[in-house]
Amino acid sequence: MVATIIDGRVVAARMRTEIAQDAAEFLAKTGDMPGLGVVLVGDDPASAMYVRMKRRACESAGIHSVASMLPASSTQAEVEAAVTSLNNDAKIHGILVQLPMPKHIDEDRVLSLVSLEKDVDGFHPVNVGLLAMKGREPYFTPATPTGCMVLLDEAGATLRGANAVVIGRSNIVGLPVALMLMKADATVTMCHSQTINLPEIVRQADVVIAAIGKPNFVKGEWLKPGCVVIDVGTNQVDAPQDEKGYRYVGDVDFESAKEVARAITLVPGGVGPMTITMLMKNTLKAAWKLTDTGK
Ligand code: NAP
Repeated sequence: MVATIIDGRVVAARMRTEIAQDAAEFLAKTGDMPGLGVVLVGDDPASAMYVRMKRRACESAGIHSVASMLPASSTQAEVEAAVTSLNNDAKIHGILVQLPMPKHIDEDRVLSLVSLEKDVDGFHPVNVGLLAMKGREPYFTPATPTGCMVLLDEAGATLRGANAVVIGRSNIVGLPVALMLMKADATVTMCHSQTINLPEIVRQADVVIAAIGKPNFVKGEWLKPGCVVIDVGTNQVDAPQDEKGYRYVGDVDFESAKEVARAITLVPGGVGPMTITMLMKNTLKAAWKLTDTGK
């Protein structure tokens, strides 16, 4: 079997066109653009690049963005004041706190301050709790796991009653995607660094989500024939033959996995493009909800 490629770039491009149309409709109805506020503390180049990419994508879809760029020396009170100011700004509908923050900042306290209605990253502990509870719905779900769910849908994966194995239990990917799969009626197994006999567990899975951070870690021979694989991993590896000298690979060994799976994402070009798209979609959702337009 040679797997079908689940192309996140194509899905994201389609969704961004819809988001741009929605943003134009919001502007026409309210006279305002949907607004995203970003808080970035410190000068970590990767974080600064992620913020630039997110803001650029938003602007290209008609979502206005403002950024509070605070120096690494900022105090807890200064960071919290930046969040409070965005909470109180009627032109800002979604707030993104770029992580990680410098070590002296209590991230949990900062995230807990974000207004629930503006928590477009879905990291407020109440939103995570609502995601975990039966019969309750969070205001927003986090971008990367939501992107994984959209790609599963795109691949035509049946989730009700399916065995889903999530490898990784981080707050930003593994845990929320496991909760979302459970809400979609899958039988979910969460694996992590202390899991014994991982290949045997993965072999039971109709759906595999890999969010580990280890290049080419999951091998094709671990997979159940016909499963669907979503590879969240984004690992930089040396590639002397490439112009840049490096490239990105996933947590799944693509070459062996594609011979066994029914469908699989690419890295890059799978989950990555979906993440920013879901953030934009959440910002639109927040804008409509916060603005009493009846939509
Ligand atoms: P993380 O916080 O470092 O978590 C990694 C998880 O993998 C942990 O739960 C860890 O277990 C588990 N793990 C580590 N070694 C393992 C092993 N040998 N066997 C089984 N599980 C193991 O990472 P993350 O933030 O979730 O990110 C995971 C990957 O996704 C990274 O490559 C990251 O770059 C990528 N990512 C991509 C996007 C995107 O938009 N495409 C977004 C976010 C993350 P313990 O809990 O026991 O330590």
